[in-house]
Amino acid sequence: MKTLEATAPTATQLITVNDCIECFAIPGQTMIDVIHPTTGLSLHFQHNLEQIAARYSGAVKMTIADYCASKAAAQDAEITWIETTEARYWEMLEVLPPARMFAGAFLVGEAMDHHAGTGQPRYEAYLIKGGKYFFASRPLRASEFESELVRQGVAEPIRNLICCCCGQPAPARKQWGNRDNGFGVCPSCFDAVAIKEGFDIAVNYYGRPGIHHSVR
Ligand SMILES: [Zn+2]
Repeated sequence: MKTLEATAPTATQLITVNDCIECFAIPGQTMIDVIHPTTGLSLHFQHNLEQIAARYSGAVKMTIADYCASKAAAQDAEITWIETTEARYWEMLEVLPPARMFAGAFLVGEAMDHHAGTGQPRYEAYLIKGGKYFFASRPLRASEFESELVRQGVAEPIRNLICCCCGQPAPARKQWGNRDNGFGVCPSCFDAVAIKEGFDIAVNYYGRPGIHHSVR
């Protein structure tokens, strides 16, 4: 008669997500499942490539690193701006507090997805140019939003000024005439002066927030 120990199933080998380095995927589009490192089958349904490809046209076996690189390259496709209606622009502006906003351009306040290379969130983007309304052909990262505003002539490039009070970085889109060239004010020093002497006086000293200082 067999003992309980003898009939018990052998211990299952524990794996972690770090053990899974390959996947079944459609390159540049979607990862269908990771591959179990021991069985070579999909983790959730134990399917092989033939079974996967029957359901997902174009599916291949590849490393997760290669899939992420293919996805990132697809996400970085050229950005074009497509005209839309004023009503659609306002609908998307008011649906959520924008993630970023400058000069009538904004990122819709909830990420569409994340970049497969950097992990950064990507957002739907809208802008006004020449009295017309546009949206971006693909979601943008915050850094891309900044560069697109400059490329589209909606915003000046950010200049790396120095705070005239404390010497810290004071990025600005324009030099304020009341300050020496190359100098602005950092948000903390602007706020301190605005609280002490009043907002209008602080603006007279340092210019407008979001333009001459305190840009994000
Ligand atoms: Zn300062």
